[in-house]
Amino acid sequence: MSAPDIHAIAARHVHGLPHNWQPRTYSALDRCLGYELRGSVPIGTYSRGPRKGRPKWPRLAELQRVVITMDEVRQARIRWENETGLCSHCGGSGQQVKSTGISGTTYRECISCDGTGRALHRRAEVEA
Ligand SMILES: [Zn+2]
Repeated sequence: MSAPDIHAIAARHVHGLPHNWQPRTYSALDRCLGYELRGSVPIGTYSRGPRKGRPKWPRLAELQRVVITMDEVRQARIRWENETGLCSHCGGSGQQVKSTGISGTTYRECISCDGTGRALHRRAEVEA
């Protein structure tokens, strides 16, 4: 299992977006106030060509813009970890991608869970 997209999960939760809503661009707001995501639900799938079967997305200018705060991201992370019991930084694999290149992908031990794959927020914080 790969790491979950916590920003996407937070955006869907906070803004009541459909489960298949996906961010296409991410940008951090000034002074670390949060993130701006632009995304959409797929508008179909490619029926042919090299991207056959992959979801189709609207053009950048047509994406929906949503803002989430750092705190909302943090809450989404805690919720996800409480539900799954897994480390949200590595998705429970205990490994993080170190680099990707022509010779393949290299991994390192996840620094958040020390390679255990278990959630760390679980005992630490409870949502108010
Ligand atoms: Zn981890």
